[in-house]
Amino acid sequence: MPHYDYTCEKCKKDFVVEMKISELDKKKVVCSECGSTKVSRNVTNTSFTSESINRYVWKTD
Ligand SMILES: [Zn+2]
Repeated sequence: MPHYDYTCEKCKKDFVVEMKISELDKKKVVCSECGSTKVSRNVTNTSFTSESINRYVWKTD
C-alpha cells in the first residue's frame, strides 16, 4: 500500500498515512498529533488528483 507524507498546518508535525490510491480523495486525513484536519500533503512522486488537496498544499500561511 502506498504511503503519503503529510504536514499538519496547526502543530507542524510531519506524519505518514498509508492508504490506497482509491482512498486518497475520500479518506479524511487528520493529524496524528493534535487531530486537526488542516493537513497538507507533501507531494513527492505522486501527482495531484484533487483541487482541494491542491489548495491545502499551496496554502502556506
Ligand atoms: Zn497537528
